[in-house]
Amino acid sequence: RGTVELRGVTFGYEPGRPVLRDLDLVLRPGETVCLFGPSGAGKSTVLLLLLRLWDPDAGTLRHDGVDLRRFTRQSVRERIAYVPQDPWLLDATLAQNVAFGSRDATRAQVLEACARTHVDEFVDRLPLRHDTPLGEGGARLSGGQRRRVALARAAVSPADLVLLDEPTASLDAVSAAHVVEAVRAATTRRTTLLVTHDPALAQLADRVVHVIPSSAAPTGAAARPETRKE
Ligand code: ADP
Ligand code: ADP
Repeated sequence: RGTVELRGVTFGYEPGRPVLRDLDLVLRPGETVCLFGPSGAGKSTVLLLLLRLWDPDAGTLRHDGVDLRRFTRQSVRERIAYVPQDPWLLDATLAQNVAFGSRDATRAQVLEACARTHVDEFVDRLPLRHDTPLGEGGARLSGGQRRRVALARAAVSPADLVLLDEPTASLDAVSAAHVVEAVRAATTRRTTLLVTHDPALAQLADRVVHVIPSSAAPTGAAARPETRKE
């Protein structure tokens, strides 16, 4: 399980201005693929299409052979663990945040995921808003720590597909190294689509797919973005 197949996917947010043109991409079960390319090329958009926040103008997206449009949008998102650049946290302890969406997660699994993502010192604390005074039981988390909590959430989730959007963007070296460990924890044995410019993260991928802006792509038969194995 965990095969993902995009065939001839064309999509634009505005009519007549395609962001993706005739994109083909196949992820095999358990494979980690890195999407690489300039800012604005449409990498995040590929993730949003898989989450069915948007539907393509043409082409199909399939998960284990089934057209995503045959599922409800809600059930699509339950099959997928998504870690955006700026993940949300609930007003609940970090352990509850990590278990959120995973009905069967045990305390031991949550603790293990928190340890692997280096957020275990916060497990039973509440994430605070930045303007709240730091008091008993609260923890004010940095952007990198919030991403690690979201990666721990992905690690315990039953989803067989993991989507990660620039997990190490704008982090210092130590925080980035912890995030790389967290990505390893979240993606083991699961199909993963990873958007990153970070060589340390791209190294975790089995394959790198280069996405080029559709405006720069030649028209006609050669319009497909180039793909290359590393
Ligand atoms: P394989 O490992 O069998 O080559 P790939 O998924 O790497 O499988 O590629 C299968 C075919 O799909 C290749 O011919 C490749 O050129 C094409 N392809 C893969 N990714 C893209 C992409 N992002 N855009 C256009 N064509 C692609
Ligand atoms: P990447 O992840 O490769 O940097 P994105 O997928 O974020 O690229 O964006 C691709 C293009 O789509 C960009 O030109 C961006 O400005 C545009 N875009 C992204 N989201 C929206 C949106 N909600 N409405 C209109 N245009 C958008």
